[in-house]
Amino acid sequence: MKTIGLLGGMSWESSALYYSWINEIVRQKLGGLHSARIAMVSVDFQEIEDLQHKNKWEESGEVLSKAAAQVEAAGADFLLICTNTMHKVAPQIEAAINIPILHIADATAEEIKKHGIHTIGLLGTNFTMEQEFYAGRLAEKHGLKVLIPPKEDREIVHRVIYKELVVGMVKDESRAEYLRIMRDLQAQGAEGVIEGCTEIVTLVQQKHTPIPLFDTTSIHAQKAVEMALD
Ligand code: GLU
Repeated sequence: MKTIGLLGGMSWESSALYYSWINEIVRQKLGGLHSARIAMVSVDFQEIEDLQHKNKWEESGEVLSKAAAQVEAAGADFLLICTNTMHKVAPQIEAAINIPILHIADATAEEIKKHGIHTIGLLGTNFTMEQEFYAGRLAEKHGLKVLIPPKEDREIVHRVIYKELVVGMVKDESRAEYLRIMRDLQAQGAEGVIEGCTEIVTLVQQKHTPIPLFDTTSIHAQKAVEMALD
């Protein structure tokens, strides 16, 4: 079994899910007392969030590159950046380490294509929904048509992530808003919706809607185990 590298803390609410889900999948697959080999470094999210909202991506990339090098030094064979948003600086991190990155958008796109889906809705932070590094990759590298909500709804999705989900708050009224936004995307032609922020799964799960959901946290965790046991 290879050692899975986790660059976490963004936020720790979802990193905790990565840690437990990866271990659960390894136990299901190998049985007995098997658990995952994991090397993990968890950063202080306040520092990262400050840099994001000041548009200081290069500095945030430096912080994460140092943390990724620590994960590598701890023995990881490959790295998961446990957030969609910070894949914006994945090329900078990749250049600083000698192990491969399992890109969350690639893992998710593969899963979507397995379901024969071509048009997909995307919810995440404003950075993820609006910028090229994520939606652009899904479109150009994977040939998916990506739909995002209108500006006022993107603001709601973004605010709920930073004010509620990353601090462990799960509210029924926010879930109702997310479900409405998902239905609107479906009405525009989306055949499914990407939960493109690693905390969204704490708010909306498949049991809440018939629209096919692609939760990036569980997809990323599942692919990590497949890669570790390959
Ligand atoms: N975990 C979230 C994501 O997947 C948001 C936190 C962050 O900005 O990294 O994008």
